[in-house]
Amino acid sequence: MSVTKEKKLEPLAIKRDYYQMIIDGERVDALSKETEPTFNPATGEIIAHVPKASVEDVERAVRAARKAFDNGKWRRWPVGKRARVLNKIAAIMRSRFNELVELEVLNSGKTLSAAQGQVMQAIEDFEFYAGAIVGFRGEVNNMPQGFLNYTQKEPVGVCGQIIPWNYPLMMAAWKIAPAIAAGCSVVLKPAGLTPLTAIVLTEICHEGGVPPGVVNIVTGPGTTVGDEIVNHPDVDKVAFTGSTPVGKDIMEKASATLKRVTLELGGKSPNIVFDDADLDAAVYGSLFGIFYNTGQSCEARSRLYVHENIYDEFMERFVEKTKQLRLGDPFNKETQIGAIISRKQLEVIDGYVKSAVEDGATIVTGGHEVKVEGFENGYWYAPTIITDVNHSMKVVKEEIFGPVVVVMKFKDEKEVIELANDSEYGLGSAVWTKDHGKATRVANGIQAGIVMVNCPFSAFPGTPFGGYKQSGFGRELSVEALDLYTETKSILSYYGSKPLNPLGV
Ligand code: NAD
Ligand code: MN
Repeated sequence: MSVTKEKKLEPLAIKRDYYQMIIDGERVDALSKETEPTFNPATGEIIAHVPKASVEDVERAVRAARKAFDNGKWRRWPVGKRARVLNKIAAIMRSRFNELVELEVLNSGKTLSAAQGQVMQAIEDFEFYAGAIVGFRGEVNNMPQGFLNYTQKEPVGVCGQIIPWNYPLMMAAWKIAPAIAAGCSVVLKPAGLTPLTAIVLTEICHEGGVPPGVVNIVTGPGTTVGDEIVNHPDVDKVAFTGSTPVGKDIMEKASATLKRVTLELGGKSPNIVFDDADLDAAVYGSLFGIFYNTGQSCEARSRLYVHENIYDEFMERFVEKTKQLRLGDPFNKETQIGAIISRKQLEVIDGYVKSAVEDGATIVTGGHEVKVEGFENGYWYAPTIITDVNHSMKVVKEEIFGPVVVVMKFKDEKEVIELANDSEYGLGSAVWTKDHGKATRVANGIQAGIVMVNCPFSAFPGTPFGGYKQSGFGRELSVEALDLYTETKSILSYYGSKPLNPLGV
């Protein structure tokens, strides 16, 4: 196939049987011609195939990204022109909104409304960075007489971006939008389980006018493709979202070439309900906090601390509402809980629940796999509430990544801040109270990158997202992400009329 370099990718139907990778502006197969299937977790059925790339395909993609960066075309475009491309990408996504949502539901098993919200946020991320990059700038610093110093923000280079399966399109947008806004080029690796919408987004980037080589996508196993991205000497930065053990491995490997690294890893986020909270808001927000996206969120509020004065009343409502949650056809608008991503993940979740039972905890509701009529081969797990737990238990300490919440009672503010901070993780946190002072003290006391005060939502395009402690470092979204896709160059000049002779020669 000969394609001239500047020719745009022909748009194809969003739903199809086979999705190629995109390298250097062209749709390509793996050099080995190997492919692998991708599934619908709600039905267990194969929905399409994608190339199964290997190390040589990463090599091609990195070479294309390197060339696109070094030739400077994209990064030297006037910033307004880059911004127009980002807005065009967003506009194309808007025009295909329903198809993108459908493909996201098919490949992830999440509910229609969850997918709608996430596709909308992906669109708004491109719009946000189209605007933000125009105002992004360096500084002029105060200097002694005769000296001038200014800084300029330069794109960091070739960015390897490795993303998970829980938000396939939104994670791709979180990664690609700030990187290309900053002028970087990208090699994106979606999760093996959910490659489809990230491929389509890459296609849309080209339709929107991104030059060849600026956004490349390689599909394949983390242990080969992901690993090669991390090791490759021509990759300047790795941005990773996924599990904490893989994040640690990436950080270690990236040190060989001193790549810039940002890591967005696991969490075990506390959710604190005081006795003066608006109970409706706290119940709705706590349900959303753990069961949204079937609990497969890094910032899932999976440790619930309820003040002893309202514990019984709160739990009565929380448990009742949990039992009423509707699992089933993700495309049915009435469905509130989607599928688990895979059989393997379901077994991980069930293993945690079994460990809790062995440790003496009480399963208040759920705690088992569910057979959904018409979706018998899909992966479904009952929303699960566990009590009689303490901080020595695995189910309280470790990330489960499923619809499972542990609930504990507390007495006062100081105690609950200590409990909240008694974790290796520090990503999200939530507090429910009508007392502004208390909310502010808790927000200040919590070691986490995000604190939600009487608020169920953890992220908007303009809000920084990322963790303390072993939840990783660096921030996504907001202008902070632009900082992390750029280097700051400090330019010092002397404008005095007499030559300087600092050695006194
Ligand atoms: P993972 O960390 O293995 O995978 C995330 C991404 O990294 C995928 O694209 C994967 O292919 C890639 N990858 C895997 N091994 C790699 C390696 N050695 N080098 C480079 N890239 C590699 O996560 P998972 O297996 O999909 O899920 C396991 C657990 O991770 C979940 O149960 C959950 O606890 C956690 N998780 C966290 C997030 C998050 O948003 N922080 C997202 C998904 C999963
Ligand atoms: Mn893994």
